[in-house]
Amino acid sequence: MSIPVVTTIELQSLPKLTSGKVRDLYEIDDKTLLFVTTDRISAYDVIMANGVPQKGAILTQLTAHWFKVLKERIPDLKTHFISLTPPSSVSDQDKALIRGRSMQVRRLKVFPIEAIVRGYITGSAWNEYQKTGTVHGIPQPAGLKQCDAFPKPLYTPSTKAELGDHDENISPEKAAEIVGEKYAARIEELALKVYTTAAEYAREHGIIIADTKFEFGLDEETDDIVLIDEVLTPDSSRFWPANEYEVGRDQDSFDKQFLRNWLTKEGLKAKDGVEMPQEIVEATSARYKEAFKLLTGKTLEEALAEL
Ligand code: ATP
Ligand code: MG
Repeated sequence: MSIPVVTTIELQSLPKLTSGKVRDLYEIDDKTLLFVTTDRISAYDVIMANGVPQKGAILTQLTAHWFKVLKERIPDLKTHFISLTPPSSVSDQDKALIRGRSMQVRRLKVFPIEAIVRGYITGSAWNEYQKTGTVHGIPQPAGLKQCDAFPKPLYTPSTKAELGDHDENISPEKAAEIVGEKYAARIEELALKVYTTAAEYAREHGIIIADTKFEFGLDEETDDIVLIDEVLTPDSSRFWPANEYEVGRDQDSFDKQFLRNWLTKEGLKAKDGVEMPQEIVEATSARYKEAFKLLTGKTLEEALAEL
């Protein structure tokens, strides 16, 4: 039996608040959300017409795994995670639709920036560096090769675009204007700490996290900055197999790069409604599953059986 690919979900038992490119957010109560991850996949900020089987479950289970690991290694870290079990107000029929792909989270005010951290020079950062010797306008040492590690991880925030728009790179100063001085430095510090901790864990499990994107929210009662959204998944990060890593060339990554390369080759970059051929879907699914297994030590099926 083939596994159904779920790109749209309409739950009957909870009101839907919004849909992002990949997730749907439902309201449980004024303090709690049900965060549902579909099998949709986006690249270059547009959603593909078809999805990737089990992607929603992989991202959800991997995010939950990371929250656990991060809490162990950074005890004072605050995250939005509550539970992988949906609340009792969700009907059995709806529960079946979201099995493995939902998470109860704390509903928070989202800081409107993407906290990107880069450990290695690749993608748009590599393109910029080759032209100007800078990354996000920040001067870098001469002589870096493609996919080299930065002397230390770099915080390169961007704006958080509305659906259909593109994120824009900004300086840490501009980020401070957007979120306020008071929070900007704490967000930067936290993003770097979480990246460094996660990169160390991933390295122990055979994966290099080249770069990643975090989102943070504000707990308005305690004034705490809280790690929200998905974390450290192949959607939000570039994952490279550590045993094949070599500077001076592109890496065969575990993430969306395969899809991005295909879109570029076919001239379909940023076009709407692209249908991915089966081989691209399967290659992407296999890469996501492999990253999951390396990082969690379990297959997705094993993780789902524990729910
Ligand atoms: P992409 O990740 O492809 O850029 P997207 O950012 O449009 O897509 P999704 O990831 O599909 O969005 O949906 C998640 C949405 O939920 C994001 O807008 C994110 O900011 C928001 N979000 C995440 N955690 C919380 C939270 N705890 N409270 C409120 N909103 C949240
Ligand atoms: Mg997102």
